[in-house]
Amino acid sequence: MLKRLDHIGIVVENIQQACQAYAGLGMKVSHMLDLPTKSVTVAFLPMGDMELELLQPNATGSNIADFLKENGEGLHHICFEVTDLDATLQSVREAGLILIDEVPRQGATGRIAFINSESTNGVLIELMEKTR
Ligand code: ZN
Repeated sequence: MLKRLDHIGIVVENIQQACQAYAGLGMKVSHMLDLPTKSVTVAFLPMGDMELELLQPNATGSNIADFLKENGEGLHHICFEVTDLDATLQSVREAGLILIDEVPRQGATGRIAFINSESTNGVLIELMEKTR
């Protein structure tokens, strides 16, 4: 059911500085956007058929801001593309893993749902079924 690694989400304090750092690895930003509803700026840096997703919080009190405060910069989540999100969520539930999103919601490139990191050894996992 898991198709491939789609992206790795990394929380950063300063997205411009972070983009420069990854440019040092030869990675270029394909697009950058503000998500006002989440108070976050996101930059995507493609590599092969996956990408890095840099996340910079823009306001205190948002999920990403809280994460940065508690954990500092670094790995936030990994995202797997799935063929059928509803079927995947069903088997995830049956396996006893705890979902953050019981019902899929709309993400930037498809329907998404997160699994609680307490169920997956401290790694927040995003599942995504592409709709475009
Ligand atoms: Zn993501």
